[in-house]
Amino acid sequence: MLNLPFVIEILRMVHEWALAESIVRAVLDIMRERKLKTVLEVKIAIGQLQQIEIDIFRDALKEISEGTILKETKFSIEEEEAEFKCRNCGYTWKFSEIKESIKEDEAEAIHFIPELAHAIIRCPRCGSPDFIVVRGRGVRIVSLRGIT
Ligand SMILES: [Zn+2]
Repeated sequence: MLNLPFVIEILRMVHEWALAESIVRAVLDIMRERKLKTVLEVKIAIGQLQQIEIDIFRDALKEISEGTILKETKFSIEEEEAEFKCRNCGYTWKFSEIKESIKEDEAEAIHFIPELAHAIIRCPRCGSPDFIVVRGRGVRIVSLRGIT
């Protein structure tokens, strides 16, 4: 019999590791493209709506980069606030702007299942549920400091 919480934990780790691996691979690609000898620092933004365990992600980055030319590289991680744009009236707002208007457990639910955003969030100006997520999803490299 499988221990379900344990399986979920493993799947979660696979997710964080896959994200970390794609970041390391992207940094190595940029190094090659720009002919960098060393990368001193990489700044990474994690979207507020991205489901991720930051500690596991940080450990994975360290572990994966250890075996590469990036073993001395510093990875800084920051959270990027979610931003939305209404398709009806064009208004743009940040998550913090509407956080007061939704319940705490709803805010938490959105964090874990970003797809729920459309069921919970409404445009603060016109009330439309028809909006796009402009920022706050995914993991991306914001900047990179290297030596040629
Ligand atoms: Zn609107």
